[in-house]
Amino acid sequence: MKLKNLFIVILFFASLTACAQKTTAQPTPVVAQAAGQSDANFDAPHIPSPAPFQFSLPTPGAEPISAWRPPLYPVPWAMSPYDHFYFVRPIAADQVNWPIPDYRYGGIFFGPNIIHTGIDIPTPEGTPIMAAGPGTIVWAGWGLFTESPKNQEDPYGMAVVIRHDFGYKGQQLYTIYAHMSKVFAILNQHVETSEVIGLVGDTGATTGPHVHFEVRIADNSFFHTYNPELWIAPPQGWGVLAGRIMDEKGEGTLQQVEVTLRSTKVKKTYLVKTYGGGGAINPDPYYNENMVLGDLPAGIYKVTITIEKKLEQTWVEIFPGQTSYITFIKGEGFESIRPPAPILESLPTP
Ligand SMILES: [Zn+2]
Repeated sequence: MKLKNLFIVILFFASLTACAQKTTAQPTPVVAQAAGQSDANFDAPHIPSPAPFQFSLPTPGAEPISAWRPPLYPVPWAMSPYDHFYFVRPIAADQVNWPIPDYRYGGIFFGPNIIHTGIDIPTPEGTPIMAAGPGTIVWAGWGLFTESPKNQEDPYGMAVVIRHDFGYKGQQLYTIYAHMSKVFAILNQHVETSEVIGLVGDTGATTGPHVHFEVRIADNSFFHTYNPELWIAPPQGWGVLAGRIMDEKGEGTLQQVEVTLRSTKVKKTYLVKTYGGGGAINPDPYYNENMVLGDLPAGIYKVTITIEKKLEQTWVEIFPGQTSYITFIKGEGFESIRPPAPILESLPTP
């Protein structure tokens, strides 16, 4: 594993160099100021340090390319009032259109301060990238991360941002598509769900072709991302697990704890790690989770984690089209009680 990691690190830096050389040959992308952003954004951009970023694929997808999945639920899909599967996937169903399993949102690969703010869908260069929902193009081209249009060194490479026609709790919703080889979308263009906006590529900081997909709420900025696996509709008959793995006080969360799900039916094991730190990721306003595992066939799963060499386990049922929820408090164990319903301030108090 160490050798493999070393190889991947080398590959990463090699590809950065390769990218830098290659970018000079790229066609001039459509780059313009995002609607609603002021000039001040470009004159004095609030550019976060590049250190917390990693857009590369650490390992090839662990699941076979030929794995068939049922069609997705129609969007918007919300079996519970707290779920919000508003988006389709940016890749069509005839390709791998699910995230690379070992580098999900909140994932850490290269170091504790390098955290993943989206999901990576590993599809071949030239695969069409589709709008996850209807909206207006507010960015198309280079420089999204550095807020410097024409910056061909930008880690997102060529990227598109859609500001969606619908929001969430009165706030704007955005989706981001990065590392494109070609951008077809034009600034201020209105696109419909599944309209092709560009092609998969490996521009920016990447080790190979894939689309880096983000969901942002309220503000089109790097610090307002949320876990896309709680926003893209699951395959029909499949569901999602969200969880919060906490320290002994139940206040803080435990980072990078490996959570294993073992299906009793299909004899398959799924793995996810709790979010790393770094401050660039946000939990869902309702679930307040620090782990999400999407694309789970409905059924019963054994959930195990190891805390200080002690194995802890529980059982969870995944329901079609829904998000199941677990919590764990160190020293107390697992529970599967949902967060309390939000208190509506407009209701009269008893
Ligand atoms: Zn990524």
